[in-house]
Order: sequence, then structure tokens, then C-alpha cells
Amino acid sequence: MNKPNQEYIVISGARENNLKNVSLRIPKRKITIFTGVSGSGKSSIVFDTIAAESTRLLNENFSMFVRNFLPRVPQPDTDAIENLSMAVIVDQKRLGGGSHSTMGTITDISPILRLLFSRVGQPHIGEAHMFSFNDPQGMCPECSGIGRRLGVDMSKALDMSKSLNEGAIMLPDYALSSFDWNMIVQSRPFDPDKKLSDYSEEELAQLLYGKARKIEVQFGGKAVNITVEGIIEKFTNKYIRRDLKTMSERTQRAVAPFITEWPCSSCHGARLSQAALSCKINGLNIAELSSIEVGQLIRVIREIDDAIAAPVVKLLLERLQHLVDIGLDYLTLDRETDTLSGGESQRVKMVKHLSGSLVDVTYIFDEPSVGLHPRDVHRLNELLLKLRDKGNTVIVVEHDPDVIKVADHIVDVGPHAGSHGGTIVYEGDFQGLLEAGTLTGTHMKRPLHLKSDCRQPSGKLPIRNAELHNLQNVNVDIPTGVLTVVTGVAGSGKSTLINDVFLSQHPDAIVIDQSAVGVSTRSNPATYTGIMDDVRKAFASANKVSPGLFSFNSKGACENCQGLGVVYTELAFLESVKLPCEVCGGRRFKEEVLSYKLNGKSIADVLEMTVEQALDFFQLKEVVRKLQAMSDVGLNYITLGQPLSTLSGGECQRIKLASELHKKGSIYVMDEPTTGLHMSDIGHLLEIMNRLVDTGNTVIVIEHNLDVIGQADWIIDMGPDGGSKGGQVVFEGTPSQIIQVEQSITGRYLI
Ligand code: ADP
Ligand code: ADP
Ligand code: ZN
Ligand code: ZN
Repeated sequence: MNKPNQEYIVISGARENNLKNVSLRIPKRKITIFTGVSGSGKSSIVFDTIAAESTRLLNENFSMFVRNFLPRVPQPDTDAIENLSMAVIVDQKRLGGGSHSTMGTITDISPILRLLFSRVGQPHIGEAHMFSFNDPQGMCPECSGIGRRLGVDMSKALDMSKSLNEGAIMLPDYALSSFDWNMIVQSRPFDPDKKLSDYSEEELAQLLYGKARKIEVQFGGKAVNITVEGIIEKFTNKYIRRDLKTMSERTQRAVAPFITEWPCSSCHGARLSQAALSCKINGLNIAELSSIEVGQLIRVIREIDDAIAAPVVKLLLERLQHLVDIGLDYLTLDRETDTLSGGESQRVKMVKHLSGSLVDVTYIFDEPSVGLHPRDVHRLNELLLKLRDKGNTVIVVEHDPDVIKVADHIVDVGPHAGSHGGTIVYEGDFQGLLEAGTLTGTHMKRPLHLKSDCRQPSGKLPIRNAELHNLQNVNVDIPTGVLTVVTGVAGSGKSTLINDVFLSQHPDAIVIDQSAVGVSTRSNPATYTGIMDDVRKAFASANKVSPGLFSFNSKGACENCQGLGVVYTELAFLESVKLPCEVCGGRRFKEEVLSYKLNGKSIADVLEMTVEQALDFFQLKEVVRKLQAMSDVGLNYITLGQPLSTLSGGECQRIKLASELHKKGSIYVMDEPTTGLHMSDIGHLLEIMNRLVDTGNTVIVIEHNLDVIGQADWIIDMGPDGGSKGGQVVFEGTPSQIIQVEQSITGRYLI
């Protein structure tokens, strides 16, 4: 018999970040959900305490010899954590992995499919690895298994009706009078006033593809020796033959419109050698099977009737079913993982663990409902239950009421954010939560409101004949001057319609997404919003010194950590580890700089203030305005100096929103802005969206949250289902209209 306390993970006296000496017990082999307003301390308990302790324990498993080479992972600030099993964190970080990582490779389904072909494919070509595009013997030799080639989009690069002097070259770097433009005009025997369409074939070849050669030219009144080459040749060498992802975001944005890709002429995108492609099962080769949506692929695989193949077929069907169960049936195995959304990435990782054989693991999920329509949340719940029933402890940070309902145990953290949070306001089951009188309990009982006085649009932005991905010749108008919510089940085509099609026609729109912010490791909310500039000036004038002293990039910064406050130690076989700087103790500046005060506070003190505390401290108009904007988006609790790299996707999105709030007459596009927000925070977000609309902006939001959908002026519902069964607009209209439309799944959830 287990002693009763071994049935729980026991945490005593947790004090990370804002936690106020929190003690709690988490039942093992059960589902425990942590909820509470953003900034209340959920992550501080789940990630900074429980997960951190698990990592530390893992490191202790190394021998003393190995540990001598590892930096000490600091113990979380807590009195004790007992009975913790190994923790696996399943988060929303994108899978990345480049073009060689696909849904099939990441879920380990592709190796099984290859095994199947090596057993029963006709004709046999050899072992399983011969069917892998990552294997030198399996890959298409023309494209090295990538399936496509990149090149310059000539129609965008050149305007043939113009001369060089009229700006015929539209590539970046060749603006009129720019250095590169000058070099081209001077270096070739071209008439700069002749239209490109009048060039001879030889002249055009020279201009575009001329070999590199050294020449002397005049620039700024001086003779310089330079190498010139054809403009397309140069562009290809500079941008296409190198990995664009390593370049600055600005460069990528400037260059991307001029690059186009087309399928490899040998394998036509199939990535594999001709031998591999000639091998078939029931008339289909492995590339063809990999391009069928998983939901349909299951049916095709079931048709395989062969005694030798039976065990492999069974295994394959099992794995594919996991993908269907979690609502990813609209994806294909050849889908590249770096094109998956955060929510899709987390669900794919989840599937990996389902097929694994680990038991007695503590699984930690971070808002797994992100990206899921209310219709599909039950699938997520079933998966969580399955993991639990295999004998694992499941810990979930989540705000979605439909997920909270399946918890065996609920921990509500609060009552509010930051220093007003950090305690546990309720522990127990779902029924008890409803009666607990906490923010969560109260909001769960509130009825849904549908907007009745919808705004009238000021105009419309048409989308015509959209056919990208699964879109089926979509024609739809986006109304201007109102709040439009685009919704629909996962995979129905919302992001394709808005992020890909609409935004390609409106590059001037302000996109507020969840991608990471911050260009350097020194970026923090103060630098990102521009508050830091005003703060430095205030310190400088109060102390009669130079504002430069208070910059992380100046000689005022701590020399040991270069103003980071932490030192990164690279490790050969583990992720790099971050340790507090020993010289400045995390204060980031030299002693001398820290001795300069503003109303009694040093620059380090200011960086440690939360937005809320800073609002009390500062009177400077500009600073207050920017702080207020952060407060308005629900970021009261973050500190000004917190590295942007530690912010969650939802927090990144809100900090972007805060710094873009003052524009007028713009188009705002937001992708699931409720991510990371508690039900009680959503009211604030809606207020901000409404304020944006009231000051003359057009706001377009992709969202599944019913509170937000219900408050839209206009709803565009995509569907009816995901993938090839979606891609249509099933409804356009107001909230009170959608609930009357039978075909709209979304409508049913709003009643
Ligand atoms: P939740 O997960 O409930 O949104 P968190 O646990 O992330 O809340 O945050 C609780 C409090 O701790 C907040 O005031 C937050 O600003 C602070 N905090 C969280 N992470 C850090 C950090 N790395 N450095 C400093 N403060 C932090
Ligand atoms: P939603 O935003 O509604 O979840 P998406 O627009 O992401 O839906 O996806 C619609 C369809 O297009 C799905 O079948 C999806 O698999 C496919 N799709 C989305 N992005 C890509 C991509 N980069 N490459 C190939 N297919 C894609
Ligand atoms: Zn090829
Ligand atoms: Zn330092």
C-alpha cells in the first residue's frame, strides 16, 4: 500500500516570482487544471517551480563527473517539493525544423510507411531507407529531397516598359541613385534611357546574368574599384543561395516578394528518387499517400489487404487515428512542420507522447485549447483523459471552461495579477469552483452576450476568387470601420484567407500576432515601447550626466554580462543555461551608474518595477501614456526589465498591441488575441478593440472565443469543416443572424 501522501505531488512554501509562500497538493495520476487571471502566478507554480525542479532532478541523475561540467541549475525558491515524477513539457513553441521536417517525420509515421513500402510495394526496390527523402539513396538527386527550387520572380523584379533611369529595376538595393543602381548604370555599356523591352537579347543577358568582373567607377566624386555582376545573379547569390531565415526580419520582408518557388522539374515536388516513386501500393506511391489528408488516408490504408503487411498496417492505422482524435485530420503527412501554427504544433507533440510507452510521467500542457473551435475541444479532453488513464499525472494551464470541466482537480490562482495575486483562491472540483465566488467561478456562470446594436460599415475591402491552400474560390467582402471576427473550425481556412490572401493585398495593415518580439537579448518592455528613452533622459537630467550611461549598450553597463544581468553558458549536449551575473548580481549596470537616482530609485530599481508600480512612480506624460497602454491590454503585472524572450506568445501579442494603439484609419489584424487571457481579462481586450474601431480603424480578428465572436459587428464563418472539406464562407452577418443559420457550427455554440 502507498502511503497517502505518495498519492500527491506536495509543494510547500513556493515563492518564485509573485508566489506568496504557496503550499498545495496535486493528485497523481489525475488531471489538474491551473486557472486564474493572467499574471496571477499559474506559470510561476507550474513552470518555474514544478517543471524547474524536475529539470534539476534530471540533472542530478548525471554522474558527479558529468555534473562537474554542468552549471548548477538553481533550486526553485520553495521549501520542498515531494513525490515529483519526471516532467515532460508540451508547449506551443513552433516545431521549426526546416524543410526536411514534416508531419510524417515528426510523428514517426513516415518510417512506418516506408517499412510498409519495403515489405509490400511493387516492384520492390530495397530497404525502407530507400523511401526517405532525407536519405542520400532515397532523395531526388536534382533538388536534394527538398522538392522545389527557389528563383527570382522576374515579373516583380523588372518593369520592361521602363528604362534604367525610369526605375526599371524593382529589386531592393536598386532604388534610383542608390549605390547598386549607380554601379549598374556606370559599369555596362547600356543606354540608361532605353526601355528594357528595346534591349537586344545579348544586352538583357548582360544586365541580368553578366559574370562578375572588377571595374573602376565614380561614386561621390571618387574612383572606386568594385566587382559588378548581373542583377539577377547578384540577387540570387546574396539572398537565395543563403538561408533567408538567418537574415534580419526587415531584409526578409524586403526580399520575400521577389522570390518565387516552383516544383523541382525532376520529382515535381515529391522529393524522392525515381526508383522510390515507381514503387506502388494499390496504385499509389509513397509521395502520393503522404499528400492525402490524414482523415482520408486512413481509409486508403485500410484497403491494404496483405498478410505480410498486416502488423505494419495495424500500427500505421493506430498512429493515424491519434491524429484524427486530436482534430488534425485535415493535415497531410508531407506538410512541413514549420508551417504549423502554435496550437497545431502543440497537438502534434501531444500525439507523439500518446504513442510512446512512458508511464508515471508528469505531463505539463500550456493552454492546449489554443486554435481549437469549441466544436473540437472535446477531442482534446479525450486525449488528456487517455494520458491520465495510462497512469500519468496531467497538469494543464488553461482558461477554456470546456477543458476546465473535465479536470479531476482545479487550482484557481489569484485573486488578481502580480503582487495582487500569488495565492490559491480555490482548490477542488468543478461544482465547487462555480460556487467559490472567485473571478473564475463567477465568470463561468455568466451568460453569453450577443451584440445587438452592431455598427454600420463605412465601406468594404473585397477578396475575389481566392484559391490558396484549401480555399474554394472564395469571394468575400471585409467591412471597414467595424469589428469583424473570422471564425470556423481548425483547418477551415481562416489564416489562409486573412494572413495569406488578405494581407498580401494589404501590406500596410498592422499585424498583431503571437510571434516573438524583440531583436536582441537586451530587449524588454521598456526598450520595446520606447519608455526606456524617456527614462534615460529623466535620469540624465536629474543627475546632470549623459543619458548614454543608462543604456544597456553603453559603457555604463556591467562589463561581465554586457547589461544582460545574466550570463549564458553554452553546453555541448544540452540547451544553453542562463545564470545570474556574478558581478552585478542581475542589476545590469556598474556601481557608479546605480548610484544615480531619480526620486530615490536607481535605473535598476526602475527596471524591476511592474507596469502598475511604474504608473504610480512616473509623472512624465509620454511615459504614462505608454504605461497606460500596457496596463489597458492587461499587462499591469510584467516588469519593465523582463526580457522579451521570457514572455509568452499571448503576452508578446499584447505588448505589440499596446505599442500600436494610437494609430488612426488603419487596418488591424489579430490572430487569436485571447490566447493566455482569463475570461475576466477578455472584457478589457474587447474594450480596446472597440476603442480602435471607434477611433476610425478597421479591426479583423481570427478567434474561437465565444465572448469575442458574440461581440463582433460582423462575423465571417469559415467551413463547413477542415482541410478539403472546408475553404468556404458558410456565413456572413451579425451575431443575432448567425444563431439562426443551421449550417453554421459556430452559431450553435452561441445559443
Ligand atoms: P500567469 O502564468 O498566471 O499568467 P506568471 O506566473 O507568469 O502568471 O506571473 C506571475 C507574476 O510573476 C507576474 O507579476 C509576472 O510579471 C512575474 N514574473 C513571471 N515571470 C517572471 C520573470 N521571469 N521575471 C520576473 N518576473 C516574472
Ligand atoms: P485555420 O486558420 O482555419 O485553422 P488554415 O488556413 O491554417 O486554417 O488551413 C486551411 C487549410 O490549408 C488546411 O487544410 C491546412 O492544412 C492548409 N494549409 C495551411 N497552411 C498551409 C501551408 N503553409 N502549406 C500547405 N497547406 C497549408
Ligand atoms: Zn526533386
Ligand atoms: Zn552583470
